[in-house]
Amino acid sequence: MRKHSLLNVACYGLAIALSCLPGAWSAPYNTTRDGFEKSPRSSVMKRAITVDPNTCVGTWRTSVDSAVREALDMVNYAIPRFQTLLNNLNSNPVPSIIGMNNEQRTVFQTYEAFFGQTYFGTDTQANRDKNAAAIVRLNKLISTAQRIQAALQNPGSVNLEIYCGDSFLWDTDPTGTISGFGVMEFDSRRWNSHQIGEWVALQTCTKNPGMSAYAYHPLSPPFFEESVIVLCLDYMVGWAARYSAGNTVAAYHDALPLVTNTYQMDYLWGYLPATLLHELTHARTVMKSDAEILGDQCLRNNAPAYQWQCIRQLAQENADFAAANADTFSLFVTGK
Ligand SMILES: [Zn+2]
Repeated sequence: MRKHSLLNVACYGLAIALSCLPGAWSAPYNTTRDGFEKSPRSSVMKRAITVDPNTCVGTWRTSVDSAVREALDMVNYAIPRFQTLLNNLNSNPVPSIIGMNNEQRTVFQTYEAFFGQTYFGTDTQANRDKNAAAIVRLNKLISTAQRIQAALQNPGSVNLEIYCGDSFLWDTDPTGTISGFGVMEFDSRRWNSHQIGEWVALQTCTKNPGMSAYAYHPLSPPFFEESVIVLCLDYMVGWAARYSAGNTVAAYHDALPLVTNTYQMDYLWGYLPATLLHELTHARTVMKSDAEILGDQCLRNNAPAYQWQCIRQLAQENADFAAANADTFSLFVTGK
């Protein structure tokens, strides 16, 4: 999630909340059924990237659709740039940084600003080892981008639900037997039609003003094979307004540069695709394994900074954390 911390309380088949907080998408989807779902299903479980039709309505729905398309555009753009950089770093006998063209050099310098020093020279074995470690990190980032690309290109293969707001989380057990769990919320997404739900321990939009989104993974059947991304309404309003005004990430990149300031990068959080990409890096069904999931490293360290401050801090102090940080990945990809 973005700007939130997680709780992991064991009780009644809990969910683990993994995160917090985001092209032209042309993946096939069938609008006759829950948006991205390719065909009607008898199971209560979705088997596709599904935008909830009850909470994501009107411009919120079209904004989520647009954000998914732009997110795919952005990873499609980022992957070959990552790979070109990888090829340069792998070139022998030394990385051909001198031979980079202007665009490649810009990518390299931007990459180091986000992910930390990546080339150390070859004068010592220690530096050669650092180069090798940097290449491992870059390969991991390429894998992250490819996971997201695969999911967005083939939404029918991914079990992921996207909600606008978390009104489906209740603080009272609908059976009337449990209430007052405090941090616990009852996940009622399948309650009305199937009488199925479970208790989850989440930092929700409502409980965390300022949080823009989060992702979680239910642990009990029938939910446990899916990932859920919630986009908080306080932010959804702004994201939708921006899209409704034709203000896309693509348009942002085509526009004249803004006045430079320290926090200009964080301006991109005003675009839904940045947050959506962030949450996708937390989604287990997208990333395929826990080892591939990115985290919120500054939250993990109880560091005070978020967003660009966090990204810069990690780049300078801990490249491994930078490569594993959801904000770093999503903002690099969004920023081109
Ligand atoms: Zn997060």
